[in-house]
Amino acid sequence: MSRRFGSPPDARIDSPGSVPVPKPSDVSSLSRPSTTSKGLDPRAPLVLDTRELGRRPGSQRRTSFDAEAPAGLGIEVLRVPDGAPVHLDLRLEAVMEGVLVTGEAQAELEGECVRCLEPIEDSIAVDFQELFVYDDPENRGDEDDEDVSRLEGDLLDLEPVLRDAVVLALPFQPLCGEDCPGLCPDCGARLADDPDHAHDAPIDPRWAQLQELAGPAPHEDPAGQPGPDKE
Ligand SMILES: [Zn+2]
Ligand SMILES: [Zn+2]
Repeated sequence: MSRRFGSPPDARIDSPGSVPVPKPSDVSSLSRPSTTSKGLDPRAPLVLDTRELGRRPGSQRRTSFDAEAPAGLGIEVLRVPDGAPVHLDLRLEAVMEGVLVTGEAQAELEGECVRCLEPIEDSIAVDFQELFVYDDPENRGDEDDEDVSRLEGDLLDLEPVLRDAVVLALPFQPLCGEDCPGLCPDCGARLADDPDHAHDAPIDPRWAQLQELAGPAPHEDPAGQPGPDKE
């Protein structure tokens, strides 16, 4: 594996067996790795650098850290707040075709009950596993296959994997409680706060009166004569 860092000659790594660990002074010249086609940002919270792992199959590395949640992690009615911590426990394993990432993510959730709109606080823990294929010429035959996750150089982007795992784990219809009675159809009161809620007389008649006042809807002929119709 030869990689040019554009660094001074004394930083060249060509002695066999040496581990290519760039010194801090070399890192600045890596700000735009030529191998990163889509431009993954190595500083993005969910972009991982696999260089330390190496490419020898069986090589493993474990890591745990908190990442800031990307915007829109979850569904509209139940999600991880933007920027909230997502705790990740990851195992990266080099395999023949790429890097296998196995992990668990934990985060707090915010949302609303779909029946009564009461705020919901919950937490989530999801497991996921994804193979990131090496970005090598021999692996590019199916480049159009969007189901394949790819490394970009040494970088991989965990965000799509995390997104899918979280969304799959969330209920489509989050409720404040399994038996949430929802809202009163007449006045909108939250029935869980007022189980004996009742109306003496239905409110409907007032609406009926308003409808009478409005009278029948004016009838417009949508298919008017296209041409002038003079007498
Ligand atoms: Zn509810
Ligand atoms: Zn009511």
